[in-house]
Amino acid sequence: MLEKQFNHNLLYNGIVHYYMDKKLYSKEKANFIAQTIVRKETQKRICKNKLCMHFTHNHIRNSEICLVIDCKCNQFTK
Ligand SMILES: [Zn+2]
Ligand SMILES: [Zn+2]
Repeated sequence: MLEKQFNHNLLYNGIVHYYMDKKLYSKEKANFIAQTIVRKETQKRICKNKLCMHFTHNHIRNSEICLVIDCKCNQFTK
């Protein structure tokens, strides 16, 4: 099974709404928080192998061979 493709927009909007609706933050503040979280989450999903740098969802079971054509990566590096 491949990990479902990471959806930035869905995550971003979810966070903005959460902070505006539940925490009553201003739109600017909620947007700022969402940007920070999404950036962090994106970093976590990128393979740190310098020859790869592809997303987790390009790797079989998040950890093994990268599925991107011509990529030599055979292990997801955090
Ligand atoms: Zn790769
Ligand atoms: Zn990789």
